[in-house]
Amino acid sequence: MLEFRRNLPAYKEKNRLLTAISQNQVVIISGETGCGKTTQVPQFILESEITSVRGAVCSIICTQPRRISAMSVSERVASERGEKLGESVGYKVRLEGMKGRDTRLLFCTTGILLRRLLVDRNLKGVTHVIVDEVHERGMNEDFLLIVLKDLLSRRPELRLVLMSATLDAELFSSYFGGATVINIPGFTYPVRTHFLEDILDMTGYRLTPYNQIDDYGQEKMWKMSKQAPRKRKSQIASAVEDTLKAANFNEYSSQTRESLSCWNPDCIGFNLIEYVLCYICEKERPGAVLVFMTGWDDINSLNDKLQANRILGDPTRVLLLTCHGSMASSEQRLIFDEPESGVRKIVLATNIAETSITINDVVFVIDCGKAKETSYDALNNTSCLLPSWISTVSAQQRRGRAGRVQPGECYRLYPRCVYDAFAEYQLPEILRTPLQSLCLQIKSLRLGTIAGFLSRALQSPELLAVQNAIEYLKIIGALDHNEELTVLGQYLAMLPMEPKLGKMLILGAIFNCLEPVLTIVAGLSVRDPFLAPMDKKDLAEAAKSQFSHDYSDHLALVRAFEGWKDAERGLAGYEYCWKNFLSAPSMKVIDSLRKEFLSLLKDTGLVDCDTSICNAWGRDERFIRAVICYGLYPGISSIVQNGKSSSLKTMEDGQVFLYSNSVNARESEIPYPWLVFNEKMKVNSVFLKDSTAVSDSVLLLFGGSISQGEIDGHLKMMGGYLEFFMNPSVADMYQCIRRELDELIQN
Ligand code: ADP
Ligand code: MG
Repeated sequence: MLEFRRNLPAYKEKNRLLTAISQNQVVIISGETGCGKTTQVPQFILESEITSVRGAVCSIICTQPRRISAMSVSERVASERGEKLGESVGYKVRLEGMKGRDTRLLFCTTGILLRRLLVDRNLKGVTHVIVDEVHERGMNEDFLLIVLKDLLSRRPELRLVLMSATLDAELFSSYFGGATVINIPGFTYPVRTHFLEDILDMTGYRLTPYNQIDDYGQEKMWKMSKQAPRKRKSQIASAVEDTLKAANFNEYSSQTRESLSCWNPDCIGFNLIEYVLCYICEKERPGAVLVFMTGWDDINSLNDKLQANRILGDPTRVLLLTCHGSMASSEQRLIFDEPESGVRKIVLATNIAETSITINDVVFVIDCGKAKETSYDALNNTSCLLPSWISTVSAQQRRGRAGRVQPGECYRLYPRCVYDAFAEYQLPEILRTPLQSLCLQIKSLRLGTIAGFLSRALQSPELLAVQNAIEYLKIIGALDHNEELTVLGQYLAMLPMEPKLGKMLILGAIFNCLEPVLTIVAGLSVRDPFLAPMDKKDLAEAAKSQFSHDYSDHLALVRAFEGWKDAERGLAGYEYCWKNFLSAPSMKVIDSLRKEFLSLLKDTGLVDCDTSICNAWGRDERFIRAVICYGLYPGISSIVQNGKSSSLKTMEDGQVFLYSNSVNARESEIPYPWLVFNEKMKVNSVFLKDSTAVSDSVLLLFGGSISQGEIDGHLKMMGGYLEFFMNPSVADMYQCIRRELDELIQN
C-alpha cells in the first residue's frame, strides 16, 4: 500500500501542499480524479501534525458530499495506515459512525459538520477543516462555505482546505480573498469518443421521430427500428441530425437546455446500453466497463434486464456490479477488486463514480448523458427532481474515467449536437432548488437575517427565490412575522427534509398514526413507485385504481405498500409488484426510508423509543387526510362542479389539470370540495401531481398552522381562499367559527 501511495500524483506534491497549508489560512487544491486528494491530503496533514510539536492536539475534519464516500474513504485511509477504523481515523454519517477517543482525522458528511456547528459555532478544538468535492456546488457545501468564511476571522489559527477535481479555481480563490491555489498535475491516457451516431451505425438501427401527445402537452420521442438495408454512416448521421432539427435542437438559444430535455434517452437507453455492453464483451479487448446511469431505480431495472441476457448474465464471463449512494459497504469493496481472469467487470453507477469513487481498471465508459437534478423556477414557484443533461465538464470527467490504466473508449448515448449544447458547468444547487430548508437552517444556526446571510454566498440566489421561501415558511407557520423560528419551525429544522414532509411526520407523531404517514412521506421522497409503461398505460392505471376507493393518491400508495409488505413476507414481493405495475426497488427504498424517518423523529424527541408508533387512529382515514392536508397546505385547489363535469382551480394559476396517473383523474365526480396536492408542474398548462381530496372542515382546521395570536390572521387568509372560490356554505361556516373565536379571544 505504501508503494501504491508513493505512486499517486499527490504524493509527489506532499511537501508543497504541507508548506502551503501551514503558511496560509485557506488553500485550494485541484487535481484529476484519482490523483490522491481525498485519501492522501488529510493523511499528510495528520502525519505532519503527529510529528510536529503539537502532535496529539490536532483535529482534522474532512467533509464529503455523500455518506457512502465518507464511509469508504475512511476505511481506505485507516487500512493504508495499518489501523482499524475508529483509531486515529474515523467517520461519522447520520445514524452511523466509528470514532474513538484517539480519532484525529474524521471523515463526515457536510450535513454532520453543519449539525455540529449548531451546538459548537466556533468548532472548538478543530485545527483543520477540509471540504472535499467543492466543485459539485451542493447546497450544503455552499452553505458551509459561508459559515466557515465567517468563522475564519474568529478563529485565525483554523486552517481551511478546499479540494476538487474540476474546479473553477478563480471563483473559490477570490471568494476567500485571493487564496492560494495548488494544482496537482495528473496523467490520463487518451480516450476515444463515440457519439450516438457512431453507435447507431454499429448497431444497424436507425432513429425515427414520432410525436406523442400526452397530458403534459407535446413530447417528442424517438423510436428505434431495425433498418434495412444498412445505410452508410454519413446518412445515419444526417438522419439523427434531421430528427434533432425537427425538435429545434439547432436553436442554441438560452432555452437550449430546456429544449434538450425533450430528447429522451430513457426510451432507447436500455436497449442501447445492452447492445454496447454485448459489443464490448464480444469484440473488445479486456478491461472493466463503467456505465453512468441517472439513479438507483434505473440501475436496478437495467441490472435485471442484463442478468437475463445470454452474455451479460453469464457469471463465467461477466461480473455485474452496481454502485450507488445507498449500497452497503460490503458491496462497495467488490467494485475495487479485480475480477478473475477472463471475467469482465461491469459496474452500473450513478454519478457518484464521476468524481467521488475511482475504479482503477476501467477502460470503457458508457455515458447516458444525464444526472438527476432538482430544478426550481422561482417565478412559478415550482420545482422538480428529474434527470437532466449533465455539463460538458461532467461529460469530460466521465470520459476521463476510461483512461486511467491504458487508452480507453467512451460511448456517449447522445448525438454530438446535443453535447455541443451542454452548459459548461452545472448550475450550483443553491441557484436551482427551493430555499425553504436552507432558510430554516440559517435561522436555527442563528446566522442573522436570511437575505443578509444568503447575500454572502459564493453565488447568491435570486431575491425572489429567497422571498418565496420566507413567505412559504410564514404561511406554513415555521417562521413568525419577524422571521424568527416558531416552535414548529424549530422542530422542522431538526428534520433534514422538505418542510412539508417534516410537518406530516410531526403531526403523524402527535396523532400517533405514523404507520401510514411514514409510508406517505417515504413515498413522496422517491420516484413514483406506480409505473406507467408507455405501451401499457391503461393496464397500469387500472392496476393503480384498485388501490383507491377514497380519492387519494397518497392513500393508494399506503394500500399498495401494505400489500407489498404482506407479499414480501411470503417472499412474493416481486410477483406482487409485477402484477400491480409497481416498482420493486422503490418499494424497498420506501421500506428503508420509513425506518430512517422514524429514527429521525426519535432524535427530535417527538416519538418515544418505547411506545408503539401507531394506534387505532392510524387506521382511520380521516386522520390521515388531516395529516396530508396539514403537510401539503398551501398546495390546494378547488374542485369546481359544473353540471356533470368538474374542473380544478388554484388561486395563482386559474384552471389546472391532474396528471393522468392520478387516481383522481379517473373519477368522474369527487364528493369533496378541495384537493391538496404535493407538487405542481408547469408545462403548457399547470399539472398537479399526487393529490388527496379533503373536506371543508379538514382544510379549515388543518390548512396552515394555527398558533395563539395567529388565529385571526390565519382565518382571514382562509376566508380569503373561501371567498375567492365562492363556496358559500364554507364561507358561512368560517364566519361562524370566526365569530366564536373572536369572542374567545376577547374573553
Ligand atoms: P481523488 O480524491 O484525488 O479523486 P482518491 O484519494 O479518492 O483520489 O484515490 C486515490 C487512489 O486510491 C485511486 O487510484 C483510487 O482508486 C484508490 N482508492 C481509493 N479508495 C480505495 C479503496 N477503497 N480501495 C482500493 N483503492 C482505493
Ligand atoms: Mg476525491
